[in-house]
Amino acid sequence: MDFTSLQSSLLGQSPVIIAGPCSAETHEQTLATARQLNEIGIKIFRAGLWKPRTMPGAFEGVGTAGLQWLRRVKEETGMMVATEVATQEHVALALKAGIDILWIGARTTTNPFAVQEIADALKGHSDVIVLVKNPVNPDIDLWIGALQRVYNAGITRVGAIHRGFSTYEHRLLRNNPEWQIPIELHRRIPHLTILCDPSHMGGKRDLIPTLSQQALDMGFDGLFIESHCNPSQALSDASQQVCPQELKDILKSLIIRDSTPVEDNLDVLRSQIDQCDSKLLEIIAQRMAICREIGKYKKSNKIQVVQTGRYDSILRSRIALAGELGIDEQCIKDIMQSIHKESVRQQLDILNDNSNEK
Ligand code: PEP
Ligand code: MN
Repeated sequence: MDFTSLQSSLLGQSPVIIAGPCSAETHEQTLATARQLNEIGIKIFRAGLWKPRTMPGAFEGVGTAGLQWLRRVKEETGMMVATEVATQEHVALALKAGIDILWIGARTTTNPFAVQEIADALKGHSDVIVLVKNPVNPDIDLWIGALQRVYNAGITRVGAIHRGFSTYEHRLLRNNPEWQIPIELHRRIPHLTILCDPSHMGGKRDLIPTLSQQALDMGFDGLFIESHCNPSQALSDASQQVCPQELKDILKSLIIRDSTPVEDNLDVLRSQIDQCDSKLLEIIAQRMAICREIGKYKKSNKIQVVQTGRYDSILRSRIALAGELGIDEQCIKDIMQSIHKESVRQQLDILNDNSNEK
């Protein structure tokens, strides 16, 4: 997929900032929020009209009625306008109303039939910009598949929005960031524009500054933030919206770092990291070779591959050592579990390999 960066299409902003209420609720609320955002320099306005809500009975958006409010925002302020689409009917109506940017929500991205229906409705409208939110579950292929469906429909101005992944337990954040997933997405599709949505990720307005800074530090191209003229009265996502003045302060506080570091010092440190990694890999290869030897021994002596007691003591002692070395214990536990899983797989291979048997 030959995605082009959306930066020039999104008014050359770096970082790209898209802001607006979770939902357009009334003509007045939509216009008032847009005007205040325009005053603080926001150039792209978001507002949901069709809201896919988890529970029935919640506010599901004003629907088609809001399209003319967005048109009004566009005419009066000159801002680009964006809304969420979940069906082909939404796409047709939004395109007819001159909406500049359509986004596919997290619940919709999970469903290839729904995404394909949207993609089919987009055919012949190559001028529109489409942003695809990550699916609610941490499945990078499902996300890439949705991007691909839109791209295959002839839409080249496609970007992604990372809003985190649903979890059973809600800890500090509403959605788990799993930052490694958007980082992997960037590795696989380097020119793809990827924005972060700190509002849905954190679920609380106080978390927006930290999450936004983290996203920018990790090289995200911009932010997608919910802002409402009267957040506490919002009909959806009230706890995570900020008023335009707060947004102005948040944006002012963000540190924009250089993406192409020139410092020699960084090169030196990176080459040290490269050396550490190659040593690490050599050691893992050495460990696997020893495991295969053990596998042969177990096979000829008819000993079970997995000895739970031994595994338990390995895990405990390595975690204790990690603590002594000041390394995060959970991180070492994850690494050791993964190494052990591979060691067992190698030994099982040896056990099941009958080629050397007489
Ligand atoms: C939204 O952006 O208002 C929205 C519904 O988000 P998500 O699809 O990320 O839940
Ligand atoms: Mn929302």
